[in-house]
Amino acid sequence: MPYRAPISDYQFLLDHVVGFDQVAATETFSDASADVVSAILSEAGKMCEEILAPLQRAGDLEPARLENGVLRSSPGYGDGWKAIAEGGWVGISADPEYGGMGLPMTITTAVNEMMSASCLSLQLAPLMAQGQIEALEHHASDELKALYLPKMISGEWSATMNLTEAQAGSDVGALTSKAQPNGDGTFSVSGQKIFISWGDNDFAENVCHLVLARLPDGVPGTKGISLFLVPKYIPDADGNPGVANDLKVVSVEHKMGLHGSPTCVMQFDGAKGWLVGPEHGGMAAMFTMMNNARLGVGGQGVGVAEGAYQHALAYALDRKQGRTPSGTIIDHADVRRMIMDMRADIFAARAILLANATAIDMAKATGDADWAARAALLTPIGKSFGARTGIRVAETGVQVHGGMGFVEETGAAQYSRDVRVTAIYEGTDGIQAMDLVARKMMDGGEAASNLLDEIEDQAERARATMPDLAGPVWEATETVREATEWLVAQKDMNDRFAGATAYLQAFARVLGGHYHLTAALADPDGPRAKLARYYINALLPEHSGLLARAQSGADDLFALSPDELVA
Ligand SMILES: Cc1cc2nc3c(=O)[nH]c(=O)nc-3n(C[C@H](O)[C@H](O)[C@H](O)COP(=O)(O)OP(=O)(O)OC[C@H]3O[C@@H](n4cnc5c(N)ncnc54)[C@H](O)[C@@H]3O)c2cc1C
Repeated sequence: MPYRAPISDYQFLLDHVVGFDQVAATETFSDASADVVSAILSEAGKMCEEILAPLQRAGDLEPARLENGVLRSSPGYGDGWKAIAEGGWVGISADPEYGGMGLPMTITTAVNEMMSASCLSLQLAPLMAQGQIEALEHHASDELKALYLPKMISGEWSATMNLTEAQAGSDVGALTSKAQPNGDGTFSVSGQKIFISWGDNDFAENVCHLVLARLPDGVPGTKGISLFLVPKYIPDADGNPGVANDLKVVSVEHKMGLHGSPTCVMQFDGAKGWLVGPEHGGMAAMFTMMNNARLGVGGQGVGVAEGAYQHALAYALDRKQGRTPSGTIIDHADVRRMIMDMRADIFAARAILLANATAIDMAKATGDADWAARAALLTPIGKSFGARTGIRVAETGVQVHGGMGFVEETGAAQYSRDVRVTAIYEGTDGIQAMDLVARKMMDGGEAASNLLDEIEDQAERARATMPDLAGPVWEATETVREATEWLVAQKDMNDRFAGATAYLQAFARVLGGHYHLTAALADPDGPRAKLARYYINALLPEHSGLLARAQSGADDLFALSPDELVA
């Protein structure tokens, strides 16, 4: 069934739930008026519905491939990229000085979600460019910015991120790629990177690789890593793509999904590169791109969830089986359960990501450390819960289809295969959860506590009008507070890490309850309140089992020895 961009949902969330009015009221984002936002969302939505959605299946059936060393993209992807580039959707939040629109990340997040829903494989290409643009804006020299940013923002040149090596996945500090100074301000970068998304394509004039490598005096571990911009073609004196650089795509992976996105093994053989950020400061610079991409990958999960939901709903409204009032399966209680779970979770995950983006925007516009801490806290939650929502909803979508869900033609299975990677790349679920309970709790849990205070205050105020919804949200929030205090008090980090994934998912469940309650307050007699009631009664209670697990420590996990696990 054709994809419909959920514009009214974004509009409602921006107007009533995530506090976007604060962003639009800042001087930095004074251009983001209601009219502009509405026009952007509907223009982008139209492109997604009409141009990107028809490419989704083509990418699955005809994956990107390497042909005599030349990367051939899936059919129609070049036109899709052109539409994205010409619409300005690469540079929505990029600096206007270099051709961007300078609009809030909140808007980029909504647009990225729509692009992910309509064609995830292709959307990964502009997502990589957006992340690299932000990294260059913050860390590159003025010369590099002037040369590269306008081309990336316009979509003439595409972009990649090169962290992973065979022995260095989650442990980026184990990388062995090297960079040798050339004595003229440039560097020769050598090494092999694996799993590089959109490592090449046949639609952009140049491909700009951001590569992590170690200088000769770089110490082992993450502290000795530097970041380099390594283009496929070295720009000539006029800034046009010149001679080919010493790099190539060695191979393209065969994957369980996301077939339209070429995942490449890249070989750099003394390729010419330029330093981005300070020597040995590469991880900090790359983190700008990674945080951008983490928000984006969470949005990929929600986008795919939306596509899968629309598919499943259309099928349920049409499929006749058994006796029901309407004659279709939509009226079976168990099918309703699946549909309502999907819809309620999409709303929760979407709200968390938009709130995360709003915090990023507020931090940028005000320079306020509390907003920065809020954004940092929400990033692993939004990334992981967004991905998990995508996986869960897409899998449920297959189930709604019954046997037809297992048949590829319906498209339900593709959503499930494509979205699976969102819990793996850009830091696995485990890495996100550990980030939440370790790095993001280095403040003793203060940022978490401030957010929980706000949620409780709102629930307290809502008790007067919606006690049946406000009470459970308040109580659930209090249990997250207790779990946070327990985690922070653990001296052995393994006890924290053992419960980290459960804690992250529980935190997200409670945040979802908060945003559903906010929606219900804004629409007390309408469908938003009905959906909120469903979420709070049926899905929010999951938090308590998760929190019990979050506080159970590591002892039982390690009680069986590896030998006993094998036996
Ligand atoms: C389709 C696709 C596209 C990708 N695109 C890119 C890209 O564009 N650029 C790029 O640089 N990389 C990319 N990657 C790589 C991706 O980021 C890594 O696969 C990911 O970071 C995990 O690394 P790994 O595969 O080596 O798994 P491993 O690190 O070996 O992890 C295996 C398991 O162990 C767990 N684990 C590992 N270390 C720890 C720890 N310290 N504590 C707890 N658990 C741990 C993990 O959570 C995971 O469950 C891509 C991967 C895929 C599949």
